[in-house]
Amino acid sequence: MLSYEYLISILGVIFLITIISLIAFVISKMEKIKQLSSVIESLSKSLDEMDEQAKLIVRTDIELSKTQEELDKKIAGLYTLQKLSRAISTTLEGSQIFKMVEANYLENLGFEKAYGFLWDNQKNEFSLQMSIGYSEEEISTTKAAITTDKNFFLNLIRNEKTTSSMSLTDTTLKTKIENILRSPAFVVTPILPKEGEKGFFAVATENTDTPITDGDEELITILANEIGQALENARLFEKTWHTQQQLEQKVEERTRELTNVLNAVKTINKRKSDFVSNVSHELRTPLTSIKGYAAILLTGKLGTLPPEAKERLEKINRHSDELGHIVNDLLDISRIESGKMIMNLGKHNLKEIISKADDLLSGQLKEKKINFNINIDPDASVLVDPEQIGRVFINLIGNAMKFTPAGGKISISARKLNDGMVQVDISDTGCGIPLGDQEAIFEEFFRVENAINQEVKGTGLGLALVKRIIKAHQGKIWVKSTLGSGSTFSFTIQQG
Ligand code: ADP
Repeated sequence: MLSYEYLISILGVIFLITIISLIAFVISKMEKIKQLSSVIESLSKSLDEMDEQAKLIVRTDIELSKTQEELDKKIAGLYTLQKLSRAISTTLEGSQIFKMVEANYLENLGFEKAYGFLWDNQKNEFSLQMSIGYSEEEISTTKAAITTDKNFFLNLIRNEKTTSSMSLTDTTLKTKIENILRSPAFVVTPILPKEGEKGFFAVATENTDTPITDGDEELITILANEIGQALENARLFEKTWHTQQQLEQKVEERTRELTNVLNAVKTINKRKSDFVSNVSHELRTPLTSIKGYAAILLTGKLGTLPPEAKERLEKINRHSDELGHIVNDLLDISRIESGKMIMNLGKHNLKEIISKADDLLSGQLKEKKINFNINIDPDASVLVDPEQIGRVFINLIGNAMKFTPAGGKISISARKLNDGMVQVDISDTGCGIPLGDQEAIFEEFFRVENAINQEVKGTGLGLALVKRIIKAHQGKIWVKSTLGSGSTFSFTIQQG
């Protein structure tokens, strides 16, 4: 049997054990609570940090959208500026340049009012070039105010500096400009063409929600530079245009003068031709009589003549023949020139024409022992007046013979050209012609001053006649010659 004390002591032990267990339990729980509270503490710290970060994100987002907005504004401004610049730079009329700045462009740049002024040197004041968004009354008040405060604007020009409601620190001055432009937000920038009147461009807005920025100052400065550049271009264009006008006027005057001179020369030339033609005609009749009388006297029908008289008469006869040739050549020249001599054009064999001339000259060629060479295609056909072209050959071969020493060489060749013409070349190994005389020999009465010409007679009319005959055949004639070694006369005629 268990005693009461024993029971109590058992119960006491159990109680003690329970208390100890409870204490151990509480201790272990307290440890956990401690751990938990430290977790809670670190959690709340993290939460705080997260909150901070969220706030930062919101702040950054706001700033980003603000920057984006500014960027958009800048892009829109730049785009407008580009359009405006293009319009301004293509304007070459000074008075039109300011008118290119229209209200809608200005609005896109964030302003609704503008003034453009240029300095007038004569009036010694700023003169209005354009205004946007101001009434007539406001404009006249502004003009007066600008005249009073012109130094502010003149300084701006002198210092080449842009200013604005943002950068102007002098508050009195700022209020003054605000009053002049009737707006709290503004940009004023100088217009500085390299030459000509300078001025300023002012833009303003009553909207103060978005303040004026460096970007606005920059944009308006660029715009004013464009205006300045365009004013300069317009000035240069005007200058060039005036110079061109003056030049054109001068050219016109000179052309008129030259035409008058040319007409006078033509008249004189015609008078000269008429005169030569008339005189030649008048000379022909007495010349024929002289020749006739001389011939009768020489027959002896009017009595036998002493030998001296006969000799003189023969001289008269010879000189009359020479004079007759001159008169005939002169008459022909003036007849071809006046178009009175008609060329009977037809297809003819070139070699045959030359042979006829050769027949006439062969005696002299042999006498002078000149090697004469014709190198021409026997079938070569040309469209010519054979009689006139025959004269051309007689003259040119005759000259070649005259100016080529005995034993020399004369050769004739011809070749077809691409333009439907035939080129004939007559070369000799004669004395040649000085370069300076090579054009003049085709003029009437011109003869080179040389020993041969002093000895051999000539009129200086042969080549003048030849040139006119070739010209009447739509051809050209020229000479290439080396003094002392020979000459080549070339001319063109149409292929047959
Ligand atoms: P002319 O023979 O009667 O003097 P031309 O008009 O035929 O008149 O010739 C003018 C001048 O051109 C000649 O005086 C001569 O000085 C020069 N000339 C013409 N043909 C030749 C030639 N083949 N060689 C050298 N000089 C020439």
